[in-house]
Amino acid sequence: MDAPYAKLEQVEPGIARVLAHNPSAFTYYGTQTYLVGEREVAVIDPGPDLPEHVDALEQAIGGRPIVAIMCTHTHRDHSPASRPLAERTGAPIVGCAPLALEDVGPRADAAFDGDYLPHRVLADGEAIEIDGQPIVAVATPGHTSNHLCFAYEGALLTGDHVMGWSTTVVVPPDGDMAAYMASLDRLRQRDERVYYPAHGPAVTNPRQYVRHLLGHRMQREKQILRLVGEQPRAIPDIVANAYPGLDPRLVVAAGGSVLAHLVDLERRGLVERQEEQWKAA
Ligand SMILES: [Zn+2]
Repeated sequence: MDAPYAKLEQVEPGIARVLAHNPSAFTYYGTQTYLVGEREVAVIDPGPDLPEHVDALEQAIGGRPIVAIMCTHTHRDHSPASRPLAERTGAPIVGCAPLALEDVGPRADAAFDGDYLPHRVLADGEAIEIDGQPIVAVATPGHTSNHLCFAYEGALLTGDHVMGWSTTVVVPPDGDMAAYMASLDRLRQRDERVYYPAHGPAVTNPRQYVRHLLGHRMQREKQILRLVGEQPRAIPDIVANAYPGLDPRLVVAAGGSVLAHLVDLERRGLVERQEEQWKAA
């Protein structure tokens, strides 16, 4: 694919990115790792553990001091390169929490990086300083329970919470639609001028874009309520009706998003589950 793999792209003064070579139906051209700072650097979402990507990052950093290697969340396309990069440079891994494995059952699936081990976890509102300017953690659970965005100088590094090319996948049990919507609403109340997502182009009209995303999810919810109101339905039936012409590689993910909506609607007392079938309550 014709994409700027392993090249350093300056997106604005103090923020540059390097694209990892892990294109897929879920990652678009791949994961974009951001380098924040000028004299010092923070590496945001180091990406998949691909030696050529870690080489490209080291070259882009060019020997500057690395204050932190920061992860928005622990999906395998975001956090695994934190380890080789920390080993090579001695920089600390700072950012999201490791995924909590609760005794209600495993919340992690194969997409999770179970080996992620941060030196320091940032709580909502906590910051580290780069060149004397703060990078502030903004808790945005929903896509995953441990997701953080990072705010820097009027820009928000949004990880997978808001993407520039597609809607975000929200799959239970770790993905939570109500939390996702609340986290979108949180961003709507902030005043960043630009978002830099891990996948896809920068979002230069953040407020409008977040309103559009919230509207899209509410439409989807209404559509699901209508479908299960007509007759009890299983998830594949809902997907076939709600996502006509869907890329077959995305059917499972769409089913996950439908389940996330249904779980949320069930909590709100609007739908009921009977084995594989869902119906209006
Ligand atoms: Zn993700």
